[in-house]
Amino acid sequence: MQLEPGIHQLAIGREPFSGFPPPNAFLLVGNNASILIDAGWDNQDDHRQRMAYIESLNAPPLSELIITHRHADHGGGAAYIHESTGAKLTCHPLDREVIERDRLQGRAFIASEVSGGEVRDIGGLTIEIHHGPGHTPGCLALYVPERGALFATDSVMGVSTTILRPEEGNLRDYASTLSLFQQIGPKTIYPGHGDPVTDPAKRLDQLVRHRENRERELLRMLGNGLHTVHEIRESIYSGLPEVRWELAEAQLRTGINKLIEDGVARADGDRYTTVS
Ligand SMILES: [Zn+2]
Repeated sequence: MQLEPGIHQLAIGREPFSGFPPPNAFLLVGNNASILIDAGWDNQDDHRQRMAYIESLNAPPLSELIITHRHADHGGGAAYIHESTGAKLTCHPLDREVIERDRLQGRAFIASEVSGGEVRDIGGLTIEIHHGPGHTPGCLALYVPERGALFATDSVMGVSTTILRPEEGNLRDYASTLSLFQQIGPKTIYPGHGDPVTDPAKRLDQLVRHRENRERELLRMLGNGLHTVHEIRESIYSGLPEVRWELAEAQLRTGINKLIEDGVARADGDRYTTVS
């Protein structure tokens, strides 16, 4: 579906969780070349649908697939795209190892690493590449100044807040990424899942405040005698169905890790306390 001149959204594939929209890929069509942002799941039917859409446009050839981050619902289909189009594959060095090992699995390789500051000119559209870590260490964001369009991948969701797991996510980095997005001041944010965000300033402000409130709440709980992630989860998310406990606790752990990095909390095994 064309969203605005030269910008197409391909929301193809299964939902990562029930009720959560399928991953978005975006096709940017310039006068001289096209660039694909993300490639959805590793699934042949999804790939056929993506290729049918791309071919139906008769657009300039696909020169590059930029994989925004390591997750299976964004980089899973990359090898198929490379095999069908020869497009070079690009990602951030900090997500490269996981992408090559788990997503490409020897069928293709990363041809180009970007760390932020690079620019692609495809004729009529410029794509500025930014490093936007937090969701994963090597998460990228792309900005098209001609349209005021920010492709924020999973750093901003069309629904819900971003998932930050402690093994690969970092809340301090995520907070800086949100402030980078505020500095960019986009007109529209195209998220990794769900519909475009048409009031980005308001949405970014909400996300920043949500993080700050959650941080204060965590600190207060640690100060008030709740010392394990389990206890905090029961207090913050009382009544949450058991299937969602793991994810909720992972998010809380990422939050507590930030308090530890900030020097206001400390860990003693799996017990956490405030630093007074
Ligand atoms: Zn993700």
